[in-house]
Amino acid sequence: GVPYHAASSYIQRLLDQGFKVAICEQMADPATVKGIVPREVVRVVTPGVAFDDAGLDARRNHYLAAVERAGEGAGGFGIAAVDLSTGELIACEAADAASAVSEGARLDAREVLVGPEARDLAAALAELRDARGRPPVTREPADALDDSSAVAVLDAQIGAGEAVASCPSAAARRAAARCLAAARACEAGRPVPVPRLVFYVLGDTLVLDAATQGHLELVRSVEGGERGSLLDQIDATKTAPGARLLRRRLLAPLVRVADIRRRHDAVDLFARHPGMRREARDRLADVGDVERLAIKLALDRASPRDLLALRRSLAALPGLADTLARCPEPAAAHDALGVPAGEPWIDACAEVHDLLARGLSDDPPARASDGLVIRDGFDPDLDEAREWMRGGQRLIVELEARLREGSGIATLKLRYTRVFGWYIEVTRAHVDKAPATWRRKQTVATGERFTCDDLDALADKVAHAEARAARDRFEAAHRAHARDLHREQQRDPGGDAGDGHQLAQRLHAQVPAVEQRQRAQLAEWDVAAALAEVAHRDDWARPDIDDSLELVLEDARHPVVEKLASAGRYVPNDISLGAGPGRPRMWLVTGPNMAGKSTLMRQTALCVILAQMGAFVPARRARVGVVDRVLTRVGASDNLSRGESTFMVEMKETANVLRRATRRSLVVLDEIGRGTSTYDGLAIAWAVAEHLHDVVGCRAMFATHYHELTEVAATRADTCENWSVSARELEGDVVFLHKLQRGAASRSYGVACARLAGLPEPVLARARAMLADLERGASLPTGVPASLRARSRTRAPQLGLFEDPSAARAQPAAPHPALETLRAVDVDRLTPLEALQLVATLKRMAE
Ligand code: ADP
Repeated sequence: GVPYHAASSYIQRLLDQGFKVAICEQMADPATVKGIVPREVVRVVTPGVAFDDAGLDARRNHYLAAVERAGEGAGGFGIAAVDLSTGELIACEAADAASAVSEGARLDAREVLVGPEARDLAAALAELRDARGRPPVTREPADALDDSSAVAVLDAQIGAGEAVASCPSAAARRAAARCLAAARACEAGRPVPVPRLVFYVLGDTLVLDAATQGHLELVRSVEGGERGSLLDQIDATKTAPGARLLRRRLLAPLVRVADIRRRHDAVDLFARHPGMRREARDRLADVGDVERLAIKLALDRASPRDLLALRRSLAALPGLADTLARCPEPAAAHDALGVPAGEPWIDACAEVHDLLARGLSDDPPARASDGLVIRDGFDPDLDEAREWMRGGQRLIVELEARLREGSGIATLKLRYTRVFGWYIEVTRAHVDKAPATWRRKQTVATGERFTCDDLDALADKVAHAEARAARDRFEAAHRAHARDLHREQQRDPGGDAGDGHQLAQRLHAQVPAVEQRQRAQLAEWDVAAALAEVAHRDDWARPDIDDSLELVLEDARHPVVEKLASAGRYVPNDISLGAGPGRPRMWLVTGPNMAGKSTLMRQTALCVILAQMGAFVPARRARVGVVDRVLTRVGASDNLSRGESTFMVEMKETANVLRRATRRSLVVLDEIGRGTSTYDGLAIAWAVAEHLHDVVGCRAMFATHYHELTEVAATRADTCENWSVSARELEGDVVFLHKLQRGAASRSYGVACARLAGLPEPVLARARAMLADLERGASLPTGVPASLRARSRTRAPQLGLFEDPSAARAQPAAPHPALETLRAVDVDRLTPLEALQLVATLKRMAE
């Protein structure tokens, strides 16, 4: 047991620790029950089902997800998620375990139910982290669920035949049913506010796996928080539904040209008309979280203050609609924003608002049970009760005067305590003057307390009126209609039909209808206006989107790093990848540490993601041929808790990139093969670069420390180019210019970097001396053990890091590249087109 008024914080603490909480209440007044008071579980809360606002993040969906395997032997999975705070139920199908986990990362669910046949995914899912760095709670329901029971569960909620009609995948249906059943179990028989099931196709969106989301710091920075992430940079939305939509779009950019252009049109419209943008954003700032408010109303969990927030939100809508309707380009506004003037839903909002304006008091209490929710003059019955209450006070004062006069006790007072109710207080000196008709109630040190018939009668009336007024009748009416709404229970025939009742009834009837449109339009307007604001603020440009295989960025910047660099210090760069002559598909990027290679590659990937999510991009001009996946492997990360070294993590991620990249993908690889010996690392990096270029043939940027690798480009002149990020050495110090230039970097500046990092001068001096010797090709200086000297002679190419790249030809004898390529091919995954390309590549290798 916990104090009921503090239950919320106790429940939240338990949920944070991954517990399920069952809430039991006494079902009868203990004063009227003999023996044990009946108790029932009235609600169950699990981490995926927030208890109240305290457990929700306004700017993110709060999902409970489920995963089911697509049937015996099949590789696929059904995935679904329900957000009970917004009423969304979504489902999709993933072709394999890796995409199922990627989708899990994208959904960022607080809790995941892993079906019995999908158990092998549990470990990978449990490794995901949410925006606060917490792993999801995974649960493994014991019993399998077949399609027909899944359809039955879903149809009971969304209507007969709807499950199959809205969701073609049986596995997705099973996952959705799993979510829904879990949600229903939580509500202990009360209806759950889920009106439909929305099926989506993973192939309709740009694939971003968990590693890529992490490397690119899309929604979470490497430090773990949202600060410093791309989302943090671009989230200028004014409403919570807008913020949630923006986040969803960032993690699921589009792949169809027309759809992407439509989003750009909307942003463009707000960008071209700053006055309209400013006005619309001002209005949106008054709009609360209408999605969640509507659900709370439907679930009978809206507090009077929620109603006030709803009233404020609705008040802002006509002005917003008007702002958009006055757009100087009405036709464009219609196409891009869907704004005809005077839409019926705006009228409906006006009606609900009118109702709330007339019915709801301006300063309602936190809880409905505290009374004074309904405004005076709205409900005649209620007004009368309140009149009685106020009038009752006056009658008490009048009675007091009469009693004083009748008894001759001038100091007599009428008083009230909760325990004794009303009484006449007489001090000891005057007790003997009390009339015989008064009845003694209590003796106290200072005198006596009496009552009389007149006082009893009056106290009765006042108490009755107070009780009626305090209840406001709002709560009772509200409850009756929550049931109505869901058609599950008969209308309460005993419910009274005053106006208070009407308020609740009409709110219930109208608000859900408004809410659907809210989701579709308000959030979209908010996102478009916010992205236009960001484009204006940071000087971003609208990208051209097409179906080509080109990626051309002029004066591109990294949206987050640019902000950190002091004003005007960020050096923009041009990128040009493609499939035609003069536009190679792969760039090998060299340059010293800290030159800006990672930043450059990340900014390229971020521009693609921004463009395809429908935003403008941090560049002067951009042309993006649609990308199907962005795959990255950037920076070092250990997973020591999983018992994997940096190198193991790196190789796993590289394997994932090579396995999943298609010709339409964008691959960004930073420093492959650094976690092992030079020879191993170089060999792996070389093979990976060749495979990406020759076999996959996607657009790729490959940053490397191994200057030998520049040879890969030298032998593939038209389709692979060397670029470097420049630096200069000035009197032993390295100066980073951050500017891209064609060609391989001439040297590494490793010692200069080490000096920058503060290595002691004697160590630097020794390193410089050794480097000079090595570069001259001399044997190692004296003082170096003979064994190492011997190695340095036999392994000269390892030292070629700082030498003429042609030294790289003296590579360790490897099998013929054609053989290696053939070995690496996964025949089962090859499309006919890829097979043809492979043959062409092999032929070229054989020549
Ligand atoms: P590398 O991958 O070559 O080691 P990074 O990409 O990590 O280098 O960049 C190192 C630092 O240089 C970044 O943290 C950033 O502060 C700065 N930087 C990178 N690119 C630019 C640029 N184009 N303009 C200004 N500063 C940059």
